[in-house]
Amino acid sequence: MKFLLFLMLTLASVYASLNVQTTYTSLGEIAKKVGGDKVSVNVLANPHYDPHFIVPKPSLISKLRRADVLIINGAGLELGWLPPLLKGAHNGKIRPGAKGFIDVSNAIKLQNIPATVSRAFGDVHSQGNPHYMLDPYSVIPAARLIASKLSAVDESNAEYYHENLDKFLKNWKIYLKGLDTKMRGCKEKNVVQYHELFNYFLNRYQYKSYGNIEPLPGVSPSSKHTLALINTIQSKKVNMILQDVYHNQKTAKFIAQKAGVKFLILPHDVGAVDKTDSLEKFYTVISNKICQ
Ligand SMILES: [Zn+2]
Repeated sequence: MKFLLFLMLTLASVYASLNVQTTYTSLGEIAKKVGGDKVSVNVLANPHYDPHFIVPKPSLISKLRRADVLIINGAGLELGWLPPLLKGAHNGKIRPGAKGFIDVSNAIKLQNIPATVSRAFGDVHSQGNPHYMLDPYSVIPAARLIASKLSAVDESNAEYYHENLDKFLKNWKIYLKGLDTKMRGCKEKNVVQYHELFNYFLNRYQYKSYGNIEPLPGVSPSSKHTLALINTIQSKKVNMILQDVYHNQKTAKFIAQKAGVKFLILPHDVGAVDKTDSLEKFYTVISNKICQ
């Protein structure tokens, strides 16, 4: 009997892993790299859908209820869907400010911070552009923050998390070197996007974005705005239109055809399009599409 109890306790400690929930897939991939076999990671948002407006299903509440750690993008990206889920979960471990709550945007220098915030400017990201994970360099501070926070929650494995972090970052820096070399060969192109999703990637590699198909964030394109955009594309020598996977493609395709430029669908997160099921593949697919 004693032996059985001992065996059960041993097995329990071997298989006990931190229940880590992340809002988006790229954060989930980083958590897996850093957490290794000491964590079980679940991603709340399906990458095929608009990351601003994930449907707050009750099943997500029960996932959050069991979580030891919650990793969010922050900078307002989850504002439209996460707060009611967190409220429903009543889980003190992952409450904002708690040890198990990780807001990765705290480790990032945000871009496009608006000087003034007003509804007249549409549904703006008032804290700055939250789509920082589109910059492959954001992976580094994100991984560092996740490692230090996991270590604080689970002190007995702190060394393990930091070893994983070092291994991961070593490989990631090698990957970045290759990506930078590749992107050096196809710099200085001009683009138009549907929403300001890809700014961090574009800025990293000196691409210029000359406008958005949505006239204001969250507002559908009007014909007047569409015609103005066609003129801009021609006068600024725009090469391509970048579209996400979840907005209607009709306007972007129409503009691309009228203006005679390329129309590209790019993933906004790991798994948003085929063959992007890892961080490396995600950024590689973006660079392949832009560079072609
Ligand atoms: Zn956005």
